[in-house]
Amino acid sequence: MQTPVLYIVIPCYNEEAVLPITAPLFLEELTLLKTEKLISDDSRIMFVNDGSKDKTWEIITDLSKQDKSYVGVCLSRNRGHQNALLCGLMEAKDLADITISIDCDGQDDIKAMTEMVKEYHTGCEVVYGVRSKRDTDTFFKRFTAESFYRLLNSMGAEVVFNHADYRLVSSRVLKEFSNFKEVNIFLRGMIPMVGFKSTSVYYERHERIAGESHYPLRKMLALAFDGITSLSIKPIRIITGIGIFVSLLSFIFIIYTLIRYFTGNTVEGWASTSSIICFLCGVQILSLGIIGEYIGKIYLETKGRPRFIVSERTYDEDSDC
Ligand code: UDP
Ligand code: MG
Repeated sequence: MQTPVLYIVIPCYNEEAVLPITAPLFLEELTLLKTEKLISDDSRIMFVNDGSKDKTWEIITDLSKQDKSYVGVCLSRNRGHQNALLCGLMEAKDLADITISIDCDGQDDIKAMTEMVKEYHTGCEVVYGVRSKRDTDTFFKRFTAESFYRLLNSMGAEVVFNHADYRLVSSRVLKEFSNFKEVNIFLRGMIPMVGFKSTSVYYERHERIAGESHYPLRKMLALAFDGITSLSIKPIRIITGIGIFVSLLSFIFIIYTLIRYFTGNTVEGWASTSSIICFLCGVQILSLGIIGEYIGKIYLETKGRPRFIVSERTYDEDSDC
Protein backbone atom coordinates (compact mmCIF):
# COMPACT_ATOMS: atom_id res chain seq x y z
CA MET A 1 0.00 0.00 0.00
CA GLN A 2 1.14 3.54 -0.77
CA THR A 3 1.92 5.61 2.31
CA PRO A 4 -1.27 7.55 3.08
CA VAL A 5 -1.56 11.31 3.44
CA LEU A 6 -2.70 12.09 7.00
CA TYR A 7 -4.48 15.26 8.07
CA ILE A 8 -4.76 15.87 11.80
CA VAL A 9 -7.90 17.99 12.23
CA ILE A 10 -8.04 20.19 15.32
CA PRO A 11 -10.95 22.51 16.19
CA CYS A 12 -9.86 25.52 18.24
CA TYR A 13 -11.99 28.02 20.11
CA ASN A 14 -10.28 30.69 22.22
CA GLU A 15 -7.20 28.54 22.66
CA GLU A 16 -4.40 31.14 22.64
CA ALA A 17 -3.12 29.81 25.96
CA VAL A 18 -2.77 26.23 24.83
CA LEU A 19 -2.06 26.31 21.07
CA PRO A 20 1.57 27.46 21.26
CA ILE A 21 2.24 24.56 23.66
CA THR A 22 0.41 21.78 21.87
CA ALA A 23 1.12 22.72 18.21
CA PRO A 24 4.78 21.54 18.44
CA LEU A 25 3.59 18.31 20.11
CA PHE A 26 1.35 17.57 17.13
CA LEU A 27 4.23 18.36 14.77
CA GLU A 28 6.52 16.06 16.74
CA GLU A 29 4.05 13.18 16.33
CA LEU A 30 3.56 13.96 12.64
CA THR A 31 7.32 13.93 12.08
CA LEU A 32 7.64 10.66 13.96
CA LEU A 33 4.93 9.06 11.80
CA LYS A 34 6.72 10.34 8.69
CA THR A 35 10.11 8.97 9.74
CA GLU A 36 8.53 5.61 10.50
CA LYS A 37 7.18 5.74 6.92
CA LEU A 38 3.65 5.22 8.20
CA ILE A 39 2.37 8.38 6.49
CA SER A 40 3.31 10.44 3.45
CA ASP A 41 5.46 13.60 3.58
CA ASP A 42 2.44 15.57 2.33
CA SER A 43 0.66 15.04 5.65
CA ARG A 44 -0.51 18.13 7.51
CA ILE A 45 -1.89 19.48 10.76
CA MET A 46 -5.10 21.37 10.07
CA PHE A 47 -6.40 23.84 12.66
CA VAL A 48 -10.00 25.00 12.39
CA ASN A 49 -10.55 28.33 14.09
CA ASP A 50 -14.12 28.30 15.36
CA GLY A 51 -14.70 32.07 15.44
CA SER A 52 -12.35 32.65 18.38
CA LYS A 53 -12.41 36.03 20.04
CA ASP A 54 -8.78 35.91 21.11
CA LYS A 55 -5.51 35.60 19.16
CA THR A 56 -6.08 31.97 18.09
CA TRP A 57 -6.29 32.74 14.35
CA GLU A 58 -3.17 34.95 14.45
CA ILE A 59 -1.31 32.09 16.12
CA ILE A 60 -2.52 29.65 13.44
CA THR A 61 -1.47 31.92 10.55
CA ASP A 62 1.93 32.46 12.19
CA LEU A 63 2.37 28.71 12.57
CA SER A 64 1.47 28.15 8.91
CA LYS A 65 4.19 30.63 7.91
CA GLN A 66 6.77 28.92 10.14
CA ASP A 67 6.20 25.40 8.88
CA LYS A 68 4.28 24.16 5.88
CA SER A 69 3.01 21.20 7.89
CA TYR A 70 0.59 23.56 9.63
CA VAL A 71 -2.49 24.71 7.74
CA GLY A 72 -5.52 26.62 8.99
CA VAL A 73 -9.17 27.19 8.17
CA CYS A 74 -11.15 29.98 9.74
CA LEU A 75 -14.91 29.88 10.23
CA SER A 76 -16.85 33.09 9.74
CA ARG A 77 -18.18 32.83 13.32
CA ASN A 78 -18.41 30.47 16.28
CA ARG A 79 -20.43 27.40 15.26
CA GLY A 80 -19.55 25.03 18.10
CA HIS A 81 -17.15 22.13 18.37
CA GLN A 82 -19.10 19.63 16.22
CA ASN A 83 -19.56 21.98 13.26
CA ALA A 84 -15.95 23.17 13.43
CA LEU A 85 -14.75 19.60 13.39
CA LEU A 86 -17.07 18.72 10.53
CA CYS A 87 -15.72 21.67 8.55
CA GLY A 88 -12.13 20.44 9.04
CA LEU A 89 -13.04 16.89 8.06
CA MET A 90 -14.89 18.02 4.94
CA GLU A 91 -11.92 20.19 3.93
CA ALA A 92 -9.50 17.33 4.57
CA LYS A 93 -11.45 14.56 2.86
CA ASP A 94 -10.32 15.66 -0.61
CA LEU A 95 -6.74 16.40 0.42
CA ALA A 96 -5.95 13.38 2.57
CA ASP A 97 -6.32 9.60 2.66
CA ILE A 98 -6.85 9.54 6.40
CA THR A 99 -7.82 12.09 9.05
CA ILE A 100 -7.39 12.05 12.80
CA SER A 101 -9.57 14.44 14.78
CA ILE A 102 -8.38 15.57 18.19
CA ASP A 103 -8.95 18.47 20.60
CA CYS A 104 -6.20 21.04 20.78
CA ASP A 105 -5.80 21.03 24.57
CA GLY A 106 -3.49 18.02 24.83
CA GLN A 107 -5.93 16.06 27.02
CA ASP A 108 -6.02 13.16 24.60
CA ASP A 109 -2.79 11.22 24.26
CA ILE A 110 -1.24 12.47 21.01
CA LYS A 111 1.05 9.44 20.92
CA ALA A 112 -1.94 7.13 20.44
CA MET A 113 -1.97 8.34 16.81
CA THR A 114 0.84 5.91 15.93
CA GLU A 115 -1.31 2.98 16.99
CA MET A 116 -4.31 4.41 15.14
CA VAL A 117 -2.35 4.72 11.89
CA LYS A 118 -1.01 1.18 12.35
CA GLU A 119 -4.59 -0.06 12.71
CA TYR A 120 -5.40 1.72 9.45
CA HIS A 121 -2.56 -0.17 7.78
CA THR A 122 -4.15 -3.43 8.93
CA GLY A 123 -7.33 -2.48 7.05
CA CYS A 124 -9.49 -0.50 9.54
CA GLU A 125 -11.23 2.54 8.06
CA VAL A 126 -12.34 3.96 11.43
CA VAL A 127 -10.29 3.79 14.64
CA TYR A 128 -11.93 5.09 17.83
CA GLY A 129 -9.73 6.54 20.56
CA VAL A 130 -11.17 5.31 23.85
CA ARG A 131 -10.23 6.66 27.28
CA SER A 132 -9.07 3.76 29.38
CA LYS A 133 -8.88 5.71 32.64
CA ARG A 134 -10.13 9.04 33.83
CA ASP A 135 -7.94 9.37 36.90
CA THR A 136 -7.06 12.98 36.21
CA ASP A 137 -10.71 14.05 35.85
CA THR A 138 -12.52 15.13 39.00
CA PHE A 139 -15.07 12.70 40.40
CA PHE A 140 -17.83 15.03 39.23
CA LYS A 141 -16.54 15.26 35.63
CA ARG A 142 -15.98 11.50 35.47
CA PHE A 143 -19.42 10.73 36.89
CA THR A 144 -21.26 13.15 34.63
CA ALA A 145 -19.27 12.11 31.56
CA GLU A 146 -19.83 8.38 32.13
CA SER A 147 -23.54 8.94 32.88
CA PHE A 148 -23.63 10.83 29.57
CA TYR A 149 -22.55 7.71 27.61
CA ARG A 150 -24.94 5.47 29.56
CA LEU A 151 -27.83 7.85 28.97
CA LEU A 152 -27.04 8.06 25.26
CA ASN A 153 -26.90 4.31 24.86
CA SER A 154 -30.02 3.67 26.91
CA MET A 155 -31.86 6.17 24.73
CA GLY A 156 -30.89 4.39 21.55
CA ALA A 157 -28.05 6.64 20.38
CA GLU A 158 -25.28 4.13 19.83
CA VAL A 159 -21.92 5.52 20.81
CA VAL A 160 -18.63 3.86 21.72
CA PHE A 161 -18.32 4.06 25.53
CA ASN A 162 -15.78 6.66 26.67
CA HIS A 163 -14.96 7.70 23.12
CA ALA A 164 -15.14 11.42 22.42
CA ASP A 165 -14.06 12.85 19.09
CA TYR A 166 -10.50 11.50 19.03
CA ARG A 167 -10.63 9.16 16.08
CA LEU A 168 -9.08 8.16 12.79
CA VAL A 169 -11.43 8.20 9.81
CA SER A 170 -10.40 7.38 6.25
CA SER A 171 -11.33 9.73 3.42
CA ARG A 172 -13.41 6.93 1.92
CA VAL A 173 -15.65 6.93 5.00
CA LEU A 174 -15.73 10.73 5.01
CA LYS A 175 -16.84 10.83 1.38
CA GLU A 176 -19.75 8.55 2.24
CA PHE A 177 -20.38 10.59 5.37
CA SER A 178 -20.66 13.79 3.33
CA ASN A 179 -24.00 12.43 2.08
CA PHE A 180 -25.39 12.81 5.60
CA LYS A 181 -26.93 16.23 5.13
CA GLU A 182 -28.46 16.91 8.54
CA VAL A 183 -27.67 20.12 10.40
CA ASN A 184 -28.09 18.71 13.92
CA ILE A 185 -24.88 16.79 14.07
CA PHE A 186 -23.40 14.50 16.69
CA LEU A 187 -20.34 13.04 15.02
CA ARG A 188 -19.47 10.28 17.48
CA GLY A 189 -22.94 8.81 17.03
CA MET A 190 -23.09 9.34 13.25
CA ILE A 191 -19.70 7.97 12.15
CA PRO A 192 -20.61 4.42 13.33
CA MET A 193 -23.69 4.65 11.07
CA VAL A 194 -21.46 4.82 7.98
CA GLY A 195 -20.13 1.36 8.74
CA PHE A 196 -16.85 -0.07 7.36
CA LYS A 197 -14.27 -1.98 9.39
CA SER A 198 -13.51 -0.28 12.69
CA THR A 199 -11.60 -0.85 15.89
CA SER A 200 -10.61 0.99 19.08
CA VAL A 201 -7.32 2.01 20.63
CA TYR A 202 -7.05 2.82 24.33
CA TYR A 203 -5.24 5.73 25.95
CA GLU A 204 -5.15 7.63 29.22
CA ARG A 205 -6.77 11.03 29.31
CA HIS A 206 -4.68 13.84 30.80
CA GLU A 207 -5.54 17.17 32.32
CA ARG A 208 -5.92 20.21 30.09
CA ILE A 209 -2.42 21.67 29.51
CA ALA A 210 -3.66 25.27 29.75
CA GLY A 211 -6.79 27.35 29.33
CA GLU A 212 -10.28 26.35 30.44
CA SER A 213 -12.80 23.71 29.38
CA HIS A 214 -15.58 24.88 27.07
CA TYR A 215 -17.75 21.98 28.12
CA PRO A 216 -19.29 22.73 31.50
CA LEU A 217 -22.18 20.55 32.73
CA ARG A 218 -24.72 22.77 30.99
CA LYS A 219 -23.12 22.25 27.56
CA MET A 220 -22.60 18.55 28.22
CA LEU A 221 -26.29 18.12 29.00
CA ALA A 222 -27.14 20.06 25.84
CA LEU A 223 -24.82 17.79 23.83
CA ALA A 224 -26.39 14.66 25.36
CA PHE A 225 -29.87 15.97 24.60
CA ASP A 226 -28.83 16.85 21.05
CA GLY A 227 -27.24 13.45 20.61
CA ILE A 228 -30.37 11.65 21.74
CA THR A 229 -32.86 13.72 19.78
CA SER A 230 -30.68 13.69 16.65
CA LEU A 231 -30.06 9.99 16.61
CA SER A 232 -33.04 8.30 18.13
CA ILE A 233 -36.80 8.46 18.44
CA LYS A 234 -36.81 6.41 21.62
CA PRO A 235 -37.93 9.34 23.84
CA ILE A 236 -41.08 9.67 21.72
CA ARG A 237 -41.69 5.94 22.16
CA ILE A 238 -41.21 6.29 25.93
CA ILE A 239 -43.74 9.13 25.97
CA THR A 240 -46.20 6.98 24.06
CA GLY A 241 -45.60 4.25 26.65
CA ILE A 242 -46.17 6.65 29.54
CA GLY A 243 -49.29 7.92 27.75
CA ILE A 244 -50.71 4.41 27.46
CA PHE A 245 -49.84 3.63 31.09
CA VAL A 246 -51.39 6.84 32.43
CA SER A 247 -54.51 6.37 30.28
CA LEU A 248 -54.91 2.85 31.64
CA LEU A 249 -54.57 4.11 35.22
CA SER A 250 -57.15 6.83 34.51
CA PHE A 251 -59.52 4.26 33.05
CA ILE A 252 -59.25 2.10 36.18
CA PHE A 253 -59.75 5.19 38.28
CA ILE A 254 -62.91 6.14 36.33
CA ILE A 255 -64.36 2.67 36.95
CA TYR A 256 -63.53 3.04 40.63
CA THR A 257 -65.23 6.45 40.76
CA LEU A 258 -68.32 5.09 39.01
CA ILE A 259 -68.55 2.19 41.46
CA ARG A 260 -68.32 4.64 44.34
CA TYR A 261 -70.95 6.85 42.69
CA PHE A 262 -73.44 4.02 42.23
CA THR A 263 -72.88 2.69 45.75
CA GLY A 264 -73.65 6.14 47.07
CA ASN A 265 -70.16 6.85 48.38
CA THR A 266 -69.52 10.03 46.49
CA VAL A 267 -67.37 11.78 49.01
CA GLU A 268 -65.48 14.39 47.04
CA GLY A 269 -61.79 13.81 47.36
CA TRP A 270 -60.38 17.19 46.57
CA ALA A 271 -56.78 16.16 47.21
CA SER A 272 -56.81 13.16 44.92
CA THR A 273 -58.65 14.99 42.13
CA SER A 274 -56.32 17.94 42.14
CA SER A 275 -53.23 15.77 42.35
CA ILE A 276 -54.37 13.75 39.37
CA ILE A 277 -55.01 16.93 37.40
CA CYS A 278 -51.57 18.24 38.32
CA PHE A 279 -49.92 14.98 37.40
CA LEU A 280 -51.63 14.78 34.04
CA CYS A 281 -50.84 18.41 33.28
CA GLY A 282 -47.21 17.70 34.06
CA VAL A 283 -47.05 14.62 31.89
CA GLN A 284 -48.75 16.41 29.03
CA ILE A 285 -46.54 19.44 29.15
CA LEU A 286 -43.43 17.28 29.32
CA SER A 287 -44.63 15.22 26.39
CA LEU A 288 -45.43 18.29 24.36
CA GLY A 289 -42.01 19.67 25.17
CA ILE A 290 -40.19 16.61 23.91
CA ILE A 291 -42.34 16.37 20.81
CA GLY A 292 -41.68 20.08 20.29
CA GLU A 293 -37.95 19.36 20.40
CA TYR A 294 -38.29 16.99 17.49
CA ILE A 295 -40.48 19.42 15.58
CA GLY A 296 -37.88 22.10 16.22
CA LYS A 297 -35.25 19.83 14.73
CA ILE A 298 -37.43 19.15 11.68
CA TYR A 299 -37.83 22.92 11.32
CA LEU A 300 -34.07 23.40 11.33
CA GLU A 301 -33.50 20.52 8.93
CA THR A 302 -36.05 21.78 6.40
CA LYS A 303 -34.25 25.09 6.19
CA GLY A 304 -31.07 23.26 5.23
CA ARG A 305 -28.84 26.16 6.18
CA PRO A 306 -25.08 25.71 5.71
CA ARG A 307 -23.53 24.04 8.74
CA PHE A 308 -20.46 26.26 8.58
CA ILE A 309 -19.03 29.02 6.44
CA VAL A 310 -15.30 29.30 5.81
CA SER A 311 -14.02 32.86 5.76
CA GLU A 312 -10.26 32.32 5.34
CA ARG A 313 -7.70 29.63 4.62
CA THR A 314 -3.94 29.59 5.01
CA TYR A 315 -3.78 27.62 1.75
CA ASP A 316 -5.31 27.86 -1.71
CA GLU A 317 -8.61 25.97 -1.75
CA ASP A 318 -8.11 24.48 -5.22
CA SER A 319 -4.49 23.44 -4.92
CA ASP A 320 -2.92 20.81 -2.72
CA CYS A 321 -1.37 22.26 0.42
N1 UDP B 1 -14.20 23.97 20.69
C1 UDP B 1 -14.62 24.55 19.48
N2 UDP B 1 -15.74 25.36 19.50
C2 UDP B 1 -16.47 25.59 20.63
C3 UDP B 1 -16.05 24.97 21.85
C4 UDP B 1 -14.91 24.17 21.83
O1 UDP B 1 -14.00 24.35 18.44
O2 UDP B 1 -17.46 26.34 20.55
C5 UDP B 1 -12.99 23.12 20.68
C6 UDP B 1 -11.94 23.46 21.73
O3 UDP B 1 -11.04 24.44 21.27
C7 UDP B 1 -11.25 22.12 21.96
C8 UDP B 1 -12.38 21.11 21.73
O4 UDP B 1 -13.40 21.81 21.02
O5 UDP B 1 -10.23 21.87 21.02
C9 UDP B 1 -12.93 20.54 23.03
O6 UDP B 1 -13.27 21.56 23.95
P1 UDP B 1 -12.84 21.52 25.49
O7 UDP B 1 -11.45 21.00 25.62
O8 UDP B 1 -13.10 22.86 26.04
O9 UDP B 1 -13.88 20.46 26.09
P2 UDP B 1 -13.62 19.32 27.22
O10 UDP B 1 -12.41 18.55 26.79
O11 UDP B 1 -13.44 20.02 28.50
O12 UDP B 1 -14.86 18.46 27.19
MG1 MG C 1 -10.66 19.31 26.51
